[in-house]
Amino acid sequence: MPKLSDVRRALDELYPPAWAESWDAVGLVCGDPEDEVSRVLFAVDPLQAVVDEAVAFGAQLVVTHHPLYLRGTTTVAADTFKGKVVHTLVRHGIGLMVAHTNADVADPGVSDALAEAVGLRVTGPLVPDPTDPTGRRGTGRIGELPAPEPLAAFAARVAAGLPATAQGVRAAGDPDRPVRRVAVCGGSGDSFFAEVRAAGVDAYVTADLRHHPASEARENADIALVDAAHWATEWPWLRSAESALLAVSEKHGWGLGTRVSTHVTDPWTAHAPMTFAPTTASRSSN
Ligand SMILES: [Zn+2]
Repeated sequence: MPKLSDVRRALDELYPPAWAESWDAVGLVCGDPEDEVSRVLFAVDPLQAVVDEAVAFGAQLVVTHHPLYLRGTTTVAADTFKGKVVHTLVRHGIGLMVAHTNADVADPGVSDALAEAVGLRVTGPLVPDPTDPTGRRGTGRIGELPAPEPLAAFAARVAAGLPATAQGVRAAGDPDRPVRRVAVCGGSGDSFFAEVRAAGVDAYVTADLRHHPASEARENADIALVDAAHWATEWPWLRSAESALLAVSEKHGWGLGTRVSTHVTDPWTAHAPMTFAPTTASRSSN
């Protein structure tokens, strides 16, 4: 049976911590490298429900995309939510390991899994990593559909390809606009509109699009926008990371058991369709 240090080394080779952004906090958050690991749970967010799932699964390691702590803390008291997560992990001998922006830029990485989930063939990164001589790594991906289809059909394809969340999928643009070449970015992608424009794509699939960047992007170029829940755009990567670790496990005869969490940790839980249009009546003071 491998030690946590062995599994950590394998994950560090798949998603080298050196590839993470300078502000990020990746790698081993808690856990004893000398402990043995037989079961691993993959999840997007290190929330209590996920850690409880790891306990029930009998896991000795949880691998999450999002960090538990991005900044320093002065307490892990169990009456804080993060402290309770740490207590639960330590009490049950479970390690926590994070692969965040280092998994975003990996090849294959988070956006490869997103592209694949919505039926795109990846042709390259949206924002290439300047340190990668092969030009294959980077943030976001550009991909192509086998044949063009109207935006309405493409939005439905994205909705069908990702795990369901309350927000569903929003689209901006003419529903009949043909879509073939597409940029995707798992997670919050509204800082990459310049690169999306330069890529000459028909549509951009990402999450967390805010009013002003989205509105300005639409005014600047006829690129359709497709916005899904942050969690949903990153969830497909869990299967990719699981497969990659299972391949290492098979190579070394580790016999690891793995599971991808099905807890929907997107914070939004309900969606109310709106029913009235703004009035167009003119008013006058006399
Ligand atoms: Zn994210």
